[in-house]
Amino acid sequence: MGYAEVSVNSPVAQRRTFSYSIPADLSIEVGQAVWVPFGDKILQGIILELTDYPAVEETKEIAGIIEPRPVLSSAHALLARWISQYYLSPLFDAVALMLPPGFERKVLTFICRPPTPHEPDLSSLTGEQRHVVELVWRQGKVGLRKLEKALGARQARLITSKLISCGLVVKSYELEGVKVKPKWVAYLRLKIEAGEARQEAARLRQQRAIKQASLLEFLAQARQPIPLSEARKKTNCSTPVVQAVISKGLVELQPVEVKREPISYQGIAPSTPPPLTNAQKSAWQAIKASLLQAANSKAPPNVFLLHGVTGSGKTEIYLQALAEAVRLGKRGIVLVPEISLTPQTIERFASRFPHKVAVLHSKLSLGEQFDEWQRIRNGEFDVVIGPRSAIFAPQPELGLIVIDEEHEWTYKQHDKSPRYQARDVAIKLAELTGAVVILGSATPDVETFYHAQRGDYRLLQLPERVVPDEGSPLPQVEVVDLRDELKAGNMSIFSRSLSQATAKAVANMEQVILFLNRRGGATFIQCRSCGFVLRCKRCEVTLTYHFAEDVLVCHQCNYRMPVPQTCPRCLSRRIKFLGTGTQKLEREASYSFPQARLLRWDSDVTRGRYSHGEILNKFRSHQADILIGTQMVAKGLDLPLVTLVGVVNADTSLNLPDFRAGERTFQLLSQVLGRAGRGSLGGKVIIQTYSPGHYAIQTAAKHDYALFYDTEINYRRQLHNPPFSRLACLVYSHTNDALCQREAEKMKHRLSQEIESRGIDDLSVIGPAPAFIHKLRGRFRWQLILRGSEPSAFLSQIPVPQGWTIDVDPIGLA
Ligand code: ADP
Ligand code: ZN
Ligand code: ZN
Repeated sequence: MGYAEVSVNSPVAQRRTFSYSIPADLSIEVGQAVWVPFGDKILQGIILELTDYPAVEETKEIAGIIEPRPVLSSAHALLARWISQYYLSPLFDAVALMLPPGFERKVLTFICRPPTPHEPDLSSLTGEQRHVVELVWRQGKVGLRKLEKALGARQARLITSKLISCGLVVKSYELEGVKVKPKWVAYLRLKIEAGEARQEAARLRQQRAIKQASLLEFLAQARQPIPLSEARKKTNCSTPVVQAVISKGLVELQPVEVKREPISYQGIAPSTPPPLTNAQKSAWQAIKASLLQAANSKAPPNVFLLHGVTGSGKTEIYLQALAEAVRLGKRGIVLVPEISLTPQTIERFASRFPHKVAVLHSKLSLGEQFDEWQRIRNGEFDVVIGPRSAIFAPQPELGLIVIDEEHEWTYKQHDKSPRYQARDVAIKLAELTGAVVILGSATPDVETFYHAQRGDYRLLQLPERVVPDEGSPLPQVEVVDLRDELKAGNMSIFSRSLSQATAKAVANMEQVILFLNRRGGATFIQCRSCGFVLRCKRCEVTLTYHFAEDVLVCHQCNYRMPVPQTCPRCLSRRIKFLGTGTQKLEREASYSFPQARLLRWDSDVTRGRYSHGEILNKFRSHQADILIGTQMVAKGLDLPLVTLVGVVNADTSLNLPDFRAGERTFQLLSQVLGRAGRGSLGGKVIIQTYSPGHYAIQTAAKHDYALFYDTEINYRRQLHNPPFSRLACLVYSHTNDALCQREAEKMKHRLSQEIESRGIDDLSVIGPAPAFIHKLRGRFRWQLILRGSEPSAFLSQIPVPQGWTIDVDPIGLA
């Protein structure tokens, strides 16, 4: 007899599997969904491993199979375990990422007639017991709920267990009603030949049944079943008319299952690949060779970093790599940072691989997701495109994973368990499946580039745009020193330069983007005269201003200081300058440029399914002159009428209390720069800042990634930040702030003791400090940061009490 290790859908299961024995009559496979007894319940479980010996002495038996076909591949089963171990998340949370949409449902218990009943001996039973047996035998099965309602919960349980022990009834389990069902649509179908139908129609016309006649003629002409609603609309006939032709036996209703297809292929013409440029060719050769070797299992597959500016032809490489993978009998997954912002990318895949592109999308209805999942698992698509969760698509024969804009923070799931980084999950999945990985970016994550430099990944470069713009290939950049503006008496948030350029562009009927890279709530105190920002002396991060207490706080070490009256650097009294939000910017722009039509684009404005597209279309069709927005406007948009991009305050991201602030600023500015000057009109970028000398701004303005990287990686090394260490962020939350702090201090003490007693010398605990978002939905939050080479492995051995959440490899601010 064999055993199975099962991930059980219960909050108490945590990171473990449970051993179950396999009944002789069940054939069990890895990845199958099964019923298992757990405590006094029956729960869903997923088989992760088959073993000869159980991990514990006494095991219960698997109660049944939910669906014979495995829902997880064996690679996914291993991946789920890895995610749970590495990100310290409950195992079933990791498994759930990979289950078909709508899979998690309640379990219903039934009392049934046994499959091979022998003549019942009812003599020893009470009247009530006999009554239940008779009911069950008569009906075949009765819901336990129903018995409990009729007899009371306790009595029902007593009776059924007695009857089960006598072998008179058995238990069985079913999932509650399906939340997602295939969608059926009624079609009208002729039951007679088309010719006959026409004759019939003529007869009906003579009888003045004009509507019935025209319906028949319509169906005869269509030569195929037509959706009922369409037929009714086209022939303008009512329900009684349809009923009449049905009752005459001329037409019938036919249910047809419709596959909801989220991509509309209308207007997408099939296309063929262009010949590659020389730069593309050399990148392509390396990828092609790796795909071939991986497909023949000759060599482990590679992870490639494809580094190239926007427009350098990266997407073309993805397309050709996918075509090659398909030729080799493989399939692909393509991750994009945010699906609603990448319609052009999806269209390009759809035109190169018509009807072979699946799109996974959290804004699809559950029904659409369910359909796509099933069809993907059936191998109907060459490629699945989606946001980070698409990495878990059940794509069979996975041969290629592409992560476009690999540096984007949206690849990290930070707000719920498992707090995974899709890029690292992808690399793990590739290791398990033998797929080749392409990470693409114009501004690679410093950690990714470091791995490429070390040779962990293979670096491929596309240094130039495929179609260089006439004249200057990249936009002209002007960095404006805001300190000079104030000295010159300009109190506006627009420098003289930006203000003039904006007015000129609007007068020329060109378009302008005003960009504010502000993240909600990040508030720092800046000297308006010299731009000085207060930093923590210990941690180097910016101090954050807390309104309520009127103090400055370090969100790493909890260092606190009052807001100084004068600037420590220039002694100016204009120290308390808090920056600008998009709404304020919109207001100021309407005063400064009264002739211009303004359009604001930020997450407050875009909530619905289409609003990104709507705003974009409005701007593209020149219904507005100035677009005001946050990060979003920096994403991959081609807007030929835009000749000017103004970065209103580059310091907002520079002063985030986070060691990645410089990197973030460089990425955002580079993206913004990539937006400008894509049309024939050319373009200009104006960056306003109090820190014109900062390396992130300097290198972004010069389009110099290499110099940025060299500077940044040195800081990382000096301060022992990733990639020279790994971090884990532990957050404790509670409605009582003081209790939170005490709990965090207790934890710090525990962790420090463990570190010491185990003699681990490269692990340190930073904090506790209030989390950057100190209060969230009525709960206070305090954090500890663990820094070292293996914080996750260390934490996995320490029981972490309730109330704590752990984020391994955190990104951004907790
Ligand atoms: P990226 O993904 O790096 O932004 P793209 O692949 O989108 O670059 O290429 C930029 C533009 O150049 C696109 O319009 C694309 O169709 C075109 N392009 C890419 N490769 C070639 C090629 N080999 N020949 C002609 N045009 C190309
Ligand atoms: Zn100052
Ligand atoms: Zn500090």
